[in-house]
Amino acid sequence: MQPLLSINNITKQFAHNLPPVVEDLCFKVYPGEIFALLGPSGCGKTTTLRLIAGFERADAGEIRMEGQCFADANVHLPPEVRGIGIVFQEYALFPHLNVLQNVAFGLKKLPTKFRDERVMAVLDMVGMTPFKNRRPHQLSGGQQQRVALARSIAPSPKLILLDEPFSNLDAGMRHSTREEIRVLLKNAGMSAVFVTHDQEEALCFADRLAVMRDGCIEQIGTPETVYHRPKTPFIADFLGMTNLITGEAEGNCAQTSLGKFRIAPFARGKVLLSIRPEHLVMAPPETEAHSNGVGEIVMREFKGHDLTYRVKIGTEDYVVQTEYCCPLQVGARVTLRAVEPAVVVKHNEPHP
Ligand code: ATP
Repeated sequence: MQPLLSINNITKQFAHNLPPVVEDLCFKVYPGEIFALLGPSGCGKTTTLRLIAGFERADAGEIRMEGQCFADANVHLPPEVRGIGIVFQEYALFPHLNVLQNVAFGLKKLPTKFRDERVMAVLDMVGMTPFKNRRPHQLSGGQQQRVALARSIAPSPKLILLDEPFSNLDAGMRHSTREEIRVLLKNAGMSAVFVTHDQEEALCFADRLAVMRDGCIEQIGTPETVYHRPKTPFIADFLGMTNLITGEAEGNCAQTSLGKFRIAPFARGKVLLSIRPEHLVMAPPETEAHSNGVGEIVMREFKGHDLTYRVKIGTEDYVVQTEYCCPLQVGARVTLRAVEPAVVVKHNEPHP
């Protein structure tokens, strides 16, 4: 499939005495795909979005959409001719215009009849028809978010850029708005690039995501791949909780302080392994024939549907997550066993 958007080796530096804010970025977004840029604050996500929109000019690299060059060393198309919809973090609705007028704003070039029809169609799509005469201050955060989305999809762009789209909503509203907007984008067949520092949001909203750090992309993949097969210790740690354990690898196994682990991918020599807390299970010492050292539960966090424990074995602490089936208490003596292969996130020798 041909990509809709191609970002090729984009670099942006705001000042010569400062390091680039984004460096040598490469990624593609395919038609109908929701793509997330995920990373900690200040890693260059918004700058990347602004480069795609045309609000910033790259120092190097190329941006293409459907094969057309939007930006390179000689070209810089202004934002208004790129045909990209943008939803800002703070929605940026016009306070003096009602919902209808806000959504109609980007459709000025259409004849009135077509414009009115299109406005009503997108308001219907986002479920905001009953609120069409209200001004932004008479709407909840989630409703304003939907108006902002309606305004950006009204001109039927092929690509929408969303900057931290759910960060102004409370937890409950964030969850439901996220679901609704994902369905809306999918039904409309629109591609989206969205920016977030919230790993859970990226995992459940995106089809694929790029994890950024210090202006660079460390890994691109589906949520499942990036979560289960992180390529670096940073990604393993940033995408949820993990245990980072050193070991000596011999092919598909590694010797660690917790005993012998299955690992993926194959490796030899010194390795750093990531094992998710839900992939460690605890058992009382006497029932665990192949115990890898006995430890003690030093912390227990009840989270409703699951529990997080911290287990101390020797000088090391391990995080373990279990369902609420047989809750154990602080002070209990346990052994740990891995039920999935640990992931090699760093190794000193190349793969065999
Ligand atoms: P956040 O999640 O906090 O919004 P981000 O990952 O989106 O962060 P950016 O907003 O892209 O990060 O900023 C990346 C870096 O670039 C920051 O250190 C920021 O201070 C710097 N920066 C952004 N815009 C400019 C500018 N116009 N001039 C100088 N530095 C800038």
